Amino acid sequence: MGLETVHFKCHHCNYCCTKVICLPTPWDVIRIVKATGLNPYRFLDFLTPDQISEVPANDPTWLKCGGQRYLMALQQHNHVCHFLNPVTRLCGIYEARPILCRLFPFKYRESRDGRFLGFTLHSDVGCPRHRDGVVEVPELYALYQEDEQHQQDYQDLVRVFNRKRYLGKRPQDFVEMFIVSNEQRAMSNE
Ligand code: SF4
Ligand code: SF4
Repeated sequence: MGLETVHFKCHHCNYCCTKVICLPTPWDVIRIVKATGLNPYRFLDFLTPDQISEVPANDPTWLKCGGQRYLMALQQHNHVCHFLNPVTRLCGIYEARPILCRLFPFKYRESRDGRFLGFTLHSDVGCPRHRDGVVEVPELYALYQEDEQHQQDYQDLVRVFNRKRYLGKRPQDFVEMFIVSNEQRAMSNE
């Protein structure tokens, strides 16, 4: 284990698709919409603090509307992710799944001076951490970097959204905001 590889193999126990609430970034949502053609409201939920007590009040991705806080999440039905196939028990959007799902249960390690030290496996997220496989670190690192950038974009968008004031503001309006801004970006690149 080190900077080249990390020992792990997913055994599809489904723990992370049932016991863990997945919080996608806007980029994940856009990728899922493109891959499935689904309306995002078919698979998104907006959770209030009593529904997701693990996320601190100062997390920068809380959406603020009408005196309430909401967090964008993938829907769960009886604690099962909307996209878990009930027959195969595999992810139904595997190629388009959120980056958070791809990085689970890897933990980024760095030295005190910020030097990258490789990945290990989180010991406290419920994954059985089977070590009978090998995962390439450079690919994980690229994914981690991409997620960092997406999280930054996400926080910037939430900041803009939270500054808006109008009657009838709903957390769903955030989705319209980032889908519209993504379409405008795509058009300006054409
Ligand atoms: S999107 Fe797929 S991998 Fe992620 S929690 Fe849902 S079923 Fe699991
Ligand atoms: S908890 Fe670990 S072993 Fe189980 S499905 Fe998730 S990544 Fe795979």
